[in-house]
Amino acid sequence: MLRARRVPRKVVANRSSDGRTRTPVTSPESLTFRSDVTVELVKSSASDADVLFAARVSTAGEQSLDELKKDPERSKGLINYLMRDRHGSPFEHNSMTFFISAPIFVFREFMRHRVGWSYNEESGRYRELEPVFYVPGADRKLVQEGRPGKYVFVEGTPAQHEAVSGALRESYEQSYTAYQKMLADGVAREVARAALPVGLYSSMYATCNARSLMHFLGLRTQHELAKVPSFPQREIEMVGEKMEAEWAKLMPLTYAAFNANGRVAP
Ligand SMILES: Cc1cc2nc3c(=O)[nH]c(=O)nc-3n(C[C@H](O)[C@H](O)[C@H](O)COP(=O)(O)OP(=O)(O)OC[C@H]3O[C@@H](n4cnc5c(N)ncnc54)[C@H](O)[C@@H]3O)c2cc1C
Repeated sequence: MLRARRVPRKVVANRSSDGRTRTPVTSPESLTFRSDVTVELVKSSASDADVLFAARVSTAGEQSLDELKKDPERSKGLINYLMRDRHGSPFEHNSMTFFISAPIFVFREFMRHRVGWSYNEESGRYRELEPVFYVPGADRKLVQEGRPGKYVFVEGTPAQHEAVSGALRESYEQSYTAYQKMLADGVAREVARAALPVGLYSSMYATCNARSLMHFLGLRTQHELAKVPSFPQREIEMVGEKMEAEWAKLMPLTYAAFNANGRVAP
């Protein structure tokens, strides 16, 4: 089951002139606006020893885990060698499950990652979607400069921030009111949700292994050590950075080797 994160909501019921018809109107203060993303490591079975265990099975068999404790330097060297020469499969024998809450447009990009990932997302058919919406924070660069394929993002002016925030909030309020009205009119959730925008937050469990996570991080984060630069959208990068921090704690040798070898997945 996906965790239901309910937020208090105030839907105002309007009485029409005949005193009978009720049209739900979402009051502005009942919407929740967020600029951040949530990433929690909810379950894991992942360590550097899993990599060594898989890599050494052909020679050391069941002894491989003992080897790790005996000679940590050799273990570090082996992980680095596997990363450098792109022997990828030993990095698959582990598992990490993340709970992620982020705007739908992030999930749309996220789920393009097909290999080594499992997803379960909250349903807009089986539950009423909560009015939680994304508004870029003050530190989100707003202006794109340069030609396609070679552009940079620069700070927005205070006026631009105000314009974005005002337009998004107004649009979210309208769309959520339309959603609520359809539900009040007896329309099915799966139909009414068509009114909702991609700035709405969703939540999911995403399970991966170190190899598939490295591939994701190589594409969805910008990093000074990256041999092949990528230019991800900032909001999916925010998710990637939080996942990376969790993974680094679980598999420090693998993480160090990933960085030392240009952040290219093996
Ligand atoms: C900065 C950026 C901009 C992007 N812009 C766009 C865009 O404008 N439009 C758009 O549609 N997408 C866009 N994407 C998505 C991108 O094209 C990929 O779908 C996404 O990054 C997932 O990468 P992947 O296919 O390598 O990952 P996975 O699906 O996880 O695949 C991992 C690897 O498995 C192999 N593989 C998987 N499936 C196949 C297959 N069918 N055949 C052969 N090999 C396979 C490949 O080696 C692949 O790299 C963008 C991605 C990034 C990072």
